[in-house]
Amino acid sequence: MCAEGDPRDAHEPLHAPAPCRSCGELRLAEAVANAQRDYSRAADCRVLLRRHQASADCIARRPE
Ligand SMILES: [Zn+2]
Repeated sequence: MCAEGDPRDAHEPLHAPAPCRSCGELRLAEAVANAQRDYSRAADCRVLLRRHQASADCIARRPE
């Protein structure tokens, strides 16, 4: 039970929150803004995230 193999083999996350760094930064900024009850800034972050994801800059888009 204690030998489940090299943990590095399982290092690749199945549910990576954001393989795209820009997405991660925008989501983090939104979370921070929400934590600070700065909801207008959080809304801005969501707009920026959506705009970013709609652009070719985003590498995190999933094939539908
Ligand atoms: Zn992205």
